Amino acid sequence: MLFPYIYIANHSIYTLQTWMDDLFLNVWCNADPAVDYDIELLPDDLKEITLEIERDARIKKDYLYGPIESVYKIFQIFDQPTKDLLSQAYRNNNSIEDLCKQQNGCTPFLYSTLHTLHGALSDKLEEFYKSLFTDVIHLNAVQARIGKVDVHYDEFVTLNDERKCPFCGLNSIKGPNRSVRDAYDHYLPKDVYPFNSINFRNLAPMCHECNSSHKLRQDPITNPTTHVRRRAFYPYDAINYQIEINIDFNHNDINTLTEHHIQVTLTSPTHQDEVDTWKEVFGIEERYKEKCASKTDGKYWFIQATDEYHNYPVEVKAIYSQSTWVQKMIDDANRNKFSVGNFIKAQYLENCRRIGVF
Ligand SMILES: [Zn+2]
Repeated sequence: MLFPYIYIANHSIYTLQTWMDDLFLNVWCNADPAVDYDIELLPDDLKEITLEIERDARIKKDYLYGPIESVYKIFQIFDQPTKDLLSQAYRNNNSIEDLCKQQNGCTPFLYSTLHTLHGALSDKLEEFYKSLFTDVIHLNAVQARIGKVDVHYDEFVTLNDERKCPFCGLNSIKGPNRSVRDAYDHYLPKDVYPFNSINFRNLAPMCHECNSSHKLRQDPITNPTTHVRRRAFYPYDAINYQIEINIDFNHNDINTLTEHHIQVTLTSPTHQDEVDTWKEVFGIEERYKEKCASKTDGKYWFIQATDEYHNYPVEVKAIYSQSTWVQKMIDDANRNKFSVGNFIKAQYLENCRRIGVF
């Protein structure tokens, strides 16, 4: 990604994750074969919500009450090493930064592994964790205590006010004053990894094209062909990384330039593995090539540097030669890199100059 998001340090919406941590680590992983399940085992807030949802006749599905009890009963039959394994798996899958960066010996835990361990538990937990994000977080009983996702979104895009999707840099991210918002993507897919469906460090707003056309259910931390772990950008990294984008084409007639003439090279002196993952998961190269070949982007940048320059008054042209004008366009684009695709425009113009089309 082109730049990391800033994580909102404290937010009431994170409370649902805190309750789920408590449920998994302190209730389920401590399920005693000698202690029958009782709702009194739950922490107070979670108990109240579970009962409120259970008693609400308008809610037809049993999201918490039954599933929490049935998972507890499965944990009762597990020996201590199995409970310890699952406890560690839960912590690992919620260490999103460590998983993305392949650090601190953190290994991901998959539903496929859980299914091998206990098929019925895997099925129950998959339904449970998915419903937390799709339904439970939006129920009145929950919203009354932790607030709405829409409110979190507005605060998020107020803090992260670039208004550009950092995963592509091409499309806008909707701002706080809209009746609709962009979707939060589960960066580590929720149908591959259990336990982190409402962990906001695993949730990142993304433009519709990135979310629905490119990333989809792709797993950024495992190569889909080799199944080998790989590094991926952590969406909330505290460090801003350096990515260099190079545009090359050796086709001198810009009017007939197509994607096939264009080469896009993405490099980073510090994050090359992450860049390689990013460009594959988000189809970056083909999208940047399209931008360069487009009539309203790359070809228009060329028109700005040629036809528009030639139409300027002689007084302007007395100050700027065409080559100093192009240099000014490149400098202006570099000053506001994430406005209107400027990070590509600067490299595009540099290449036009290099191959001598001006
Ligand atoms: Zn995007």
